[in-house]
Amino acid sequence: MTHKRLTNGLKEYLECEVLLTSFFREVNFCFPECLSKPIGKYRAKMEMPGDPTTFSGNIGCCPYDGWDICNNEWLANRSLLNSERLNIYGAPDEKPGRCGYHAEKGCTLDTHRAPTCLAYACSDFRIFVSQNYGIRYNWEDIEETLENILAGNISDWKSIWFKKRLKAFSSRVKSRKA
Ligand code: SF4
Ligand code: SF4
Repeated sequence: MTHKRLTNGLKEYLECEVLLTSFFREVNFCFPECLSKPIGKYRAKMEMPGDPTTFSGNIGCCPYDGWDICNNEWLANRSLLNSERLNIYGAPDEKPGRCGYHAEKGCTLDTHRAPTCLAYACSDFRIFVSQNYGIRYNWEDIEETLENILAGNISDWKSIWFKKRLKAFSSRVKSRKA
């Protein structure tokens, strides 16, 4: 894995991050429907204190360190992402029961989130965008593509196609709201 390939991969990845962040902002579901509520939308069977299947809204879907999750084996491919994040934002706080980058209104990272953090959307969010905007949001598929982009493992045309798809999500939300 060359440094140049990882540098290019990170550049492409950060462009995708802008597009995905814009999509989530346009949808505007997480804060009003989850983070500001006593009980949030995130459900998981985990070894957590209290009810293992529900979380208070202000935790969102960040009860653990998402920035540190690697579902695939390409941890080394994240080295640039991780080191740049550390330089820009510093180390996460130690916060029991939630990710160290999480605050009351959500993630404090404006950029350099991990692929899981960028892509994940709970089932309520996915149902909402499907019913309101006709968008089929497959977060696992998006996460995998982001991993590949970060690693410099996908072709230029596929990267362009993926970014077009992300732009189309936002455009669709905007046009349905207009
Ligand atoms: S994706 Fe779902 S669980 Fe996560 S913050 Fe948004 S509404 Fe809450
Ligand atoms: S880095 Fe941000 S999005 Fe990821 S788990 Fe932490 S608070 Fe949530």
